[in-house]
Amino acid sequence: MTGIAVLGSTNMDLVAYVARAPARGETVTGREFRTVPGGKGANQAVAAARAGGEVVMIGAVGDDVYGAALRAELEHSGVFTDLLHTAEGPSGTAHIVVDDEGGNAIVVIPGANSTMTALGSGETAAIGAADLLLLQLELPLSAVVEGARSARAQGVRTILTPSPVQLLPDELLDCVDLLIPNEHEAAALTGLSEPQAAAAVLLRHVPAVVITLGAKGCLYAARDGAPLHLPAPAVTAVDTTGAGDTFVGTLAVALGEGRPVPEALAWASSAAALCVQKPGASTSMPYRSEIDAA
Ligand code: ADP
Repeated sequence: MTGIAVLGSTNMDLVAYVARAPARGETVTGREFRTVPGGKGANQAVAAARAGGEVVMIGAVGDDVYGAALRAELEHSGVFTDLLHTAEGPSGTAHIVVDDEGGNAIVVIPGANSTMTALGSGETAAIGAADLLLLQLELPLSAVVEGARSARAQGVRTILTPSPVQLLPDELLDCVDLLIPNEHEAAALTGLSEPQAAAAVLLRHVPAVVITLGAKGCLYAARDGAPLHLPAPAVTAVDTTGAGDTFVGTLAVALGEGRPVPEALAWASSAAALCVQKPGASTSMPYRSEIDAA
């Protein structure tokens, strides 16, 4: 089994569905409210566990009802939560207003995630025991950098999803083996909207890149070979939330199993295509048998 450590965020998404989002000072009556477990770290952990990885989640939830629910949700998907700390205070939350045109406005409050500023010996040991480390940018950068350095020092491969996109320090990029931005993040990082051109710039900093292109699939580029564009399976998407996290978590499992990159990318694309055909983020992530069947 591929051992995967995820150092990242856990949030409860609080989603209000309204015909039209309220303007400043205005009150509107909405149609529906849902709480949805999220956070990019937790989503990638769930995707990897469902795809057959042995996954340990490193992060923090609050000591509120959301914290308990988020932990239970991870455990339900088979993620180990011994290193998911319970911090005093609220869990991370994302306050999302979705209007009838599918537009959204989001406020993220990091809550307990912001307590993860440094790693202890347990976290370092868990990273060392894994085949791969998955990182995103929803925890304090100090912890992300420390995680990447720890992985590098212990010979563990690191995959970074640069989201929410921000300037990436060299001390982080120097320890990243595979960078997986979506096309908007790739453009923001490089100033180039053409994926091949953006990938060429990113390869100056990391040895390999996958730029995910939504329904257009993905572009893989590495320093030691020709770029590879893989189209996505043609499916009817009903909710693309969590597609990127499904792709990353599943790809990590396949790479950890030593599968060739084109095969691993195809498997991850199948998983992400299954995810977009169902509503929800982590709830719509496929299990290994479903990915294999697709
Ligand atoms: P993010 O969710 O991070 O914005 P993308 O939108 O690029 O990332 O989607 C990630 C991956 O999910 C894509 O590379 C693709 O494999 C898959 N995907 C996303 N949207 C679709 C779609 N409409 N049809 C099929 N696959 C999709």
